[in-house]
Amino acid sequence: MLDKKALLSSIPSVDELLNNEEVSNLLDICPRTVLVESIRKYLKDYRSYILASKEINKDELKGNHIIISGIGEYVKKRMDNHLKHVVNGTGVVLHTNLGRSCISPLVLDNLVKVSSRYSNLEMDLDKGIRGSRYDHVEEILCYLTKSEAAMVVNNNAAAVMLVLSTMAKEGEVIVSRGQLVEIGGSFRIPDVMAQSGAELVEVGTTNKTHIWDYEKAINENTKVLMKVHTSNYRICGFTQEVDSKDLVALARGKDIPVIEDLGSGVLMDLTKYGLPYEPTVQESIASGMDVVTFSGDKMLGGPQAGIIVGKKQYIENMKKNPLTRAFRIDKMTLAALEGTLKLYLDEEKAVRNIPVLKMLTEDKKDIEDRAVLLSNKLVSSIWRCCSISVQEDYSEVGGGSMPLCRMPTAVISINSDKITANELEERLRNNEIPIITRIYKDKVLMDMRTIWEDEFVIIEEALKKALL
Ligand SMILES: *Cc1c(COP(=O)(O)O)cnc(C)c1O
Repeated sequence: MLDKKALLSSIPSVDELLNNEEVSNLLDICPRTVLVESIRKYLKDYRSYILASKEINKDELKGNHIIISGIGEYVKKRMDNHLKHVVNGTGVVLHTNLGRSCISPLVLDNLVKVSSRYSNLEMDLDKGIRGSRYDHVEEILCYLTKSEAAMVVNNNAAAVMLVLSTMAKEGEVIVSRGQLVEIGGSFRIPDVMAQSGAELVEVGTTNKTHIWDYEKAINENTKVLMKVHTSNYRICGFTQEVDSKDLVALARGKDIPVIEDLGSGVLMDLTKYGLPYEPTVQESIASGMDVVTFSGDKMLGGPQAGIIVGKKQYIENMKKNPLTRAFRIDKMTLAALEGTLKLYLDEEKAVRNIPVLKMLTEDKKDIEDRAVLLSNKLVSSIWRCCSISVQEDYSEVGGGSMPLCRMPTAVISINSDKITANELEERLRNNEIPIITRIYKDKVLMDMRTIWEDEFVIIEEALKKALL
């Protein structure tokens, strides 16, 4: 056992370390004040570690060179971006923890220009007077969804809140008990309703709601009938929901507006690509809904945004609601949203160029080909320390969309004699460019559906580092 006192006094001083070449080279990546503070912090933690250790063996003893490289790693990690690119090997296309949808590369140019230079965000260029930021996407949204008016806010939760606050404040909103959704991140229809100042009136039962349930609940305080798409769950068996058209017909007779929260906004029929049926925004508008809300970054495949389409009279009032200022969308988002929506003008172009749609509609054969390509690469470089195989599996849509959909996919399965699957998963996750994987039966799985070909080299290098 070593003498703690002697050990503590052998730790180099901050000045000594600053004179070391390897340490002073760190000034290339961080300012002097940050470097000095980082050294202090590192040494402080090291001293605490020694003081807390019951016994210090020679093996654990950090020589100066270990302290120096430790400082190097600490500073590099500190100066690295905290929010950064990760490789998604989970196969969950809309992974909420991994940023949900990936924006199309085709929209990036304008996004960069609009955000790094001045823009006409709130200027009407024809008239030379103040304009509205909502004008940039209103026309295309109306065109794509066949609605009269449109506006956009920060996310769909804000959209629902704004709609309810504008149309139903201090009144009652009727919703079926089967549609009282909770979305991850604590968005619950009853809570949003309470926050908006509207009173929720639940009708029907969990599995069945009839038109007469709504009819009976309507009174002079009823401001809105609301339909919520059960985007992230399904009720099956002995069930009944009221058809949108019937709901609209009932509401028209009583002069009450009907609104629908669609959650994931789908703008095309995805069944022709082999995906389950998901109601489209166009269908919802065509059924007579007065206002429809949906997300920008779920199945639409754009940036985080809440999109509101519908009748002009309601949307004009929303634009004047003070909440709109608090929920307002920013220019980078608008640029990315406009770009994404423009891709939808040509459906084939959208499917090819919007990553979310591309991944959701990709053929299993193509995914398999990519899996074989990567696995061959890996086998040739790291075969000695692990076994690698390509297997069939299923991927999920994620993001609270198409909950029952299991898409056939190909995964690369890796296991090593040297380290456990948990250790390998952790090492890959802590890679400089983190790689997020799945563990199944003591094997690390990487679903090729959500991995880009230009990420192969990142995976190969990370596995070499983790296993060799
Ligand atoms: C996802 C979802 C929301 C919330 O949308 P965000 O864009 O995440 O705020 C609201 N309602 C439904 C039905 C949803 O599926």
